[in-house]
Amino acid sequence: MSERSTTGRWAPSPTGDLHLGNLRTALLAWLFARSAGGRFLWRFEDLDSAVRPQYYESQLRDVAALGLDWDSEPIRQRDRIELYRDAISDLRGRGLTYECFCTRREIAEAAAAPHGPSPEGAYPGTCRQLTRGERELRRRDGRPPALRLRVDATDSGHAELTVTDSQLGSYTGIVDDCVLQRGDDTPAYNLAVVVDDAAQGISQVVRGDDLLPSTPRQVHLAELLGVEPPSYAHVPLVLGPQGQRLAKRDGAVTLSDRRALGETPLDVTNLLLASLGLKPATSTQDLAAIAAVFDPAALPSQPWVCTPPTPPT
Ligand code: GLU
Repeated sequence: MSERSTTGRWAPSPTGDLHLGNLRTALLAWLFARSAGGRFLWRFEDLDSAVRPQYYESQLRDVAALGLDWDSEPIRQRDRIELYRDAISDLRGRGLTYECFCTRREIAEAAAAPHGPSPEGAYPGTCRQLTRGERELRRRDGRPPALRLRVDATDSGHAELTVTDSQLGSYTGIVDDCVLQRGDDTPAYNLAVVVDDAAQGISQVVRGDDLLPSTPRQVHLAELLGVEPPSYAHVPLVLGPQGQRLAKRDGAVTLSDRRALGETPLDVTNLLLASLGLKPATSTQDLAAIAAVFDPAALPSQPWVCTPPTPPT
């Protein structure tokens, strides 16, 4: 891989206020990029129908209040549909796609079938071999097809790819026939993320480790599209008091919740820094001093269990 200067990014979906887990991942992504003297970019992943307009602003405001900054205007995936369509037609033109008429339920049932060929979560390939006539019939049923990537399976039924994660080492995962374009015509996450990381010149992806299993797919797609994949650092998600992924119902977990309890943004930044084993900042204007001594190798490898105070009712 050639030497590239570091460009990191933060890519939230504006579907709600950010909670401490999201904010901690943003802080980490920022620290990784800035400690390497790199750029840091913001991208809204807003292809999802659960997006609500008020959260673009509130997410920017909260992350800025904690002391993070970014280098150019945030971009929005909704403004970039043509770019994804171009990538999809490139793959389509090379015979690397097929139409899929399966419902979520059918996929789940096929995957759950005893002795089925599908490891959990992987598409079992049901529509891969449909004839033109069979596709016509399904279309007449009124089901709009999704478009999937055609990946050459190995003897085990699925392709696998090993990726390197700077925090976790080697990770081998499935590369299945992932969706490129959903039945409603919206470009799918895995495709958009690869196209955007390449277009934004992202060289370093720092994100929650729930996305680790998607990484082999994304690296494969990057290779097919002829772009250099970024480096990856997957970080543990923040857990709630019961050991499950932190959620809004766990109490005061957003910045506005914490402010309502009398905490300042600096208190919250310092809570997050402490959870990373890092010294407190003296001001949210001066996180550069923290970045200057940040060492990814010294980060805790265990998830942070956050027990938020319950806000007064
Ligand atoms: N938009 C994704 C999320 O909010 C992040 C995707 C990524 O970092 O690749 O979880």
